[in-house]
Formats: sequence, C-alpha cells, structure tokens
Amino acid sequence: MPDNYRKFQVSKRRRNCFFNLDPFINLWQRYMFEPSKTKFRGCLLGQCLGDALGFPIEGHDENDCSSFIFRQAKYWFDGYEPSPEEWPGQYTDDSQLARELLESMIEKGGFDPEDYAARINVIFSEQRIVGQGLATANAARRLYSGVSWKESGEAPPSAGNGTAMRAAPVGMFYYNNTEEMIKVAHTQGWISHKDPRCSAGSVAIAGATALALTDQAEDTNAFIENIAKWAAYYNDEFSKLILVLKDWILLPPHKALAPISRAGKSPDYIDGWPGISPFVVSSVLWSLYSFLRYKDSYWDAISTAVSVGGDVDTTGAMTGAIAGAYKGEEALPKHLTKLLNDRGTWGYEELTALADKCHEIKKS
Ligand SMILES: [Mg+2]
Repeated sequence: MPDNYRKFQVSKRRRNCFFNLDPFINLWQRYMFEPSKTKFRGCLLGQCLGDALGFPIEGHDENDCSSFIFRQAKYWFDGYEPSPEEWPGQYTDDSQLARELLESMIEKGGFDPEDYAARINVIFSEQRIVGQGLATANAARRLYSGVSWKESGEAPPSAGNGTAMRAAPVGMFYYNNTEEMIKVAHTQGWISHKDPRCSAGSVAIAGATALALTDQAEDTNAFIENIAKWAAYYNDEFSKLILVLKDWILLPPHKALAPISRAGKSPDYIDGWPGISPFVVSSVLWSLYSFLRYKDSYWDAISTAVSVGGDVDTTGAMTGAIAGAYKGEEALPKHLTKLLNDRGTWGYEELTALADKCHEIKKS
C-alpha cells in the first residue's frame, strides 16, 4: 500500500463519532488514489511506444539516436503519420514479456511464477521473441529443458536489465499493496536473473510505476526516497545510487549522462556500449532520471531516455511505462499508438483491452 494512502487511514475512534463516515471516507479515498482507466492504458501503451521508438536504433550511439529522435520521431509526435517502411510500430522483448506478465496476473488473479515461466518458455521456444537478452534467453533454454523456474535464472554477476524492463505491470497490478509489489517484482525477475541488483531494479521500476499511477510523483524527493527504500530490500548499493538521483535530476541530460552511465560500475570496467548500456543499475537510473526531469511531458521524457544512445528500446520502454502511467493515454499520440504491434498481433485494441481488464479487476 503506498505510504501516503496509509496516512489517510482513519482511526476507529473517529469513525465512530456522530454517524458512520466510512462510506464517504471510502469514496474520497477511492477518488484520491484509485487510478483511472486512462492511466492503466497510458502505462502499457507508453511502455510499448517507448520500446518501439527505440527499437530501430537499439545499440546505436548518441549521434544516431538523437538524429533519429529529433529529426524523425519528433515529426511523428507532432502529427505526421509514418509509413510502415519508416516505422513499423513493432515493439520488442521488453514489452512482449511485460504484456505476458500482465496477462498472466489477470488470468490467475495474481502472480503465479509457474504460469509466467511457462509463458517465457513458450514465447522463446516458438521464436516469437524480438531482440532477446542473453540472460533471459539462457533462462528460457533451461525452462525448455525442464529446469524449475526457481533454478532457471542466470547467476550473478550477470546483471542486465531483463527483470526491470518487464516490471511495470507489477506496479499496475499491486499499486495498492506495496509489500506484495516488492515480493512479486523480485520473484518475476528471479525466473531469469538471480543477481540482487536485478531484483532491486525490478522493484524500482514497479515502484515508480505504482507511484506514477497513483499520482504520487509530484513530490520528487518523496518519490525517490520511496523507491530507494523499496529497492534496499534487495541491494543497498543500488538503493544509495537511487538517492543520488536527487542531485542528478538537477543536471541537464548532457551533464547527467556521464555519472549515470558509470553508476554501479568499477572505474576500470569497459562494457563497450555507447550511451546507456543494458546494465540494470545505469539503465534503470537513466529511465528514472528521464521521467523525473521531464515528468510533465511523455515526449520529453522518452526523447531524453532514447536520444543518448545505447540500450534505447529498454530505456524507452521503462521511461515510457512510468511517464504513460503518470500522464495517461491522452498524453500519447493516438496516430502512433494505433500503429503499435507485435508481428501484426497485439496492437492498440488488444493492448488497451488488456489494460482495461487490469483496471476492472483492481476497481472491483
Ligand atoms: Mg528489447
């Protein structure tokens, strides 16, 4: 349960005065903290759109990425509808696996690791995965050969962003149950990654999504402190770096990029990636930075996430999910979200129907 929500729980003594205030209090609490349908849609569509915009330039450097973002994608956001040759609208493994996670939680009425692991196994074994990460592909191979989900994850120190890139639906489903959200963010990640930094990254993205969804992102410092506190369940060092975001968000992107892209890495470590690498610490920090620095504009947030280069489908996906949850579907250009697809399936209609189902379940 988000901390601010708990603050508004009313004592029994007060409830018993004069007449029963519960129905009014419940209505007010629902009005204050129940996310609307548009925010659920914004989260899922925002993730897929950020992912699909980053996909054509994944792994490219800052020059290529900023040129693509500001010379092409900007015109699309301003109203021009790209042809399928210019932009196919295909999103990648980040959003495919986030979508599968959300669908699994909706079908099972909560997180079921067996079911989600089976879905990972199926999507990989049927070769439907787009742009797979190495650790998740290895885990899927283990699942395929009969290894249990408890043992399938890649051992440390492998610490890519595979758990965090698909964690936003955990924030959607458990936004009103923090304890469960933290546990599920870790467990869904454990299927593919066993490094505690991967669990902390998954918790950070799920937590940021939950806070954005429930309008608890206005107070930037409180937002950062909550996420750091939740990430600390799994990794102290990562948690401390999340707190440094309070200083980093005061810097413009060209100054924040160097310290964030090196965060959590030893000084002599070279990963060979331009911009932001797939390392979970730097890519989650950069996504949180992009959202927090530009939280009132979906475009500004994802263009910041993607234009610096590197693992940009994932930084686009994570930033897009949080920014979309915060601003709602209206903040996303519909002529672009209508073009989203996964090899011709799971387009706008199916994605919004899935987000609506989650909203419906949480409302009841
Ligand atoms: Mg990807």
